[in-house]
Amino acid sequence: MDDNWEPPVPAGYSDANRAFIQAFMARGTLTFREAQKLLAAIQSAVSDDGSDDTDNTDPQSITMADFENFIRTAREAVEPLDFDIRNTRDQVRGGGERVWAFINAHSDPATQLGTSRTAEEVAYIKRLLDAMFEKHNTARLEVMAVDEGQALRESRPAGGGRASNVNGNNNDDGGQEEEGGGSAAATSRGLKHSEVLSLLSSLVAEGWLDKSRDGFYSLAPRSLMELWSWLVATYNDADTEWQQIKFCEACKEIVTYGQRCNEPNCTIRLHDICEEGFWRTRGEKKCPKCSTPWEGNHFVGERAVTSRSGFQRGRGRRARRSTAADAADAAEDVEDEEE
Ligand SMILES: [Zn+2]
Ligand SMILES: [Zn+2]
Repeated sequence: MDDNWEPPVPAGYSDANRAFIQAFMARGTLTFREAQKLLAAIQSAVSDDGSDDTDNTDPQSITMADFENFIRTAREAVEPLDFDIRNTRDQVRGGGERVWAFINAHSDPATQLGTSRTAEEVAYIKRLLDAMFEKHNTARLEVMAVDEGQALRESRPAGGGRASNVNGNNNDDGGQEEEGGGSAAATSRGLKHSEVLSLLSSLVAEGWLDKSRDGFYSLAPRSLMELWSWLVATYNDADTEWQQIKFCEACKEIVTYGQRCNEPNCTIRLHDICEEGFWRTRGEKKCPKCSTPWEGNHFVGERAVTSRSGFQRGRGRRARRSTAADAADAAEDVEDEEE
């Protein structure tokens, strides 16, 4: 079973550690509850001496300390490969449940979300990110998410607008369909709507995107961790106070779903999951920067659209949802290309 040569591995690295890393990488993300099941299964398998199957490990017996030990060893093992494991709290689901993810230390959408995708798909993903973080992320409407109609509208590259550049990595030669090897953006013909829809569902299945009940696509925790520095470098401008990507005043992580200060020009943001603890330590609910009373009814994320009356009227009529989201957007989004 042992080869003559083994790569350097952390002290105490075992078959269980190896199985944990493999299963974790295959899934991309893990919550503690998922890790309990996974580690229980691994320990049952490792301790199985072939006698019988009766001594299964109870997932509840796996402690956070056990999990952290596996994480620590895994980080040491993958660090030479420029991988790391980070964790963040889910802004939307599970009451802020913590999520761990494998991170490529040098990440951009082409190397990460784009792995095993065609150049056209990678170029689409970049347009989708631009739609989330520029087009649908304005001072008036900080949605940072797109509904299906808006996602489909990005299926083909726009004639003008922002020059999309996926750091040159969209010219990957790895068996891509793109011919000519020139700039993919210049020769891009875009994706069919059916191709966009299947790409979106695979991005959701792989944990890169979340799709909400109201049909909005946004970045899932995995993407936010993976693309954190790329998003900031791409969409923020160091010379201005206003930033496209803003951070929670409490936990300092990116806010794509949360609350904003009622003062439209103020940059203070809070996650819903951080709000309670944040105000508990303060006397009054006022913005810590501009002192405007914090009413908690101005939103970042899809609720910037769904809390509006135009969307509410369309609620329940599934076919109209996209129209309602667009209606709320219309004042700003003059660009309206229908196919
Ligand atoms: Zn927060
Ligand atoms: Zn403020």
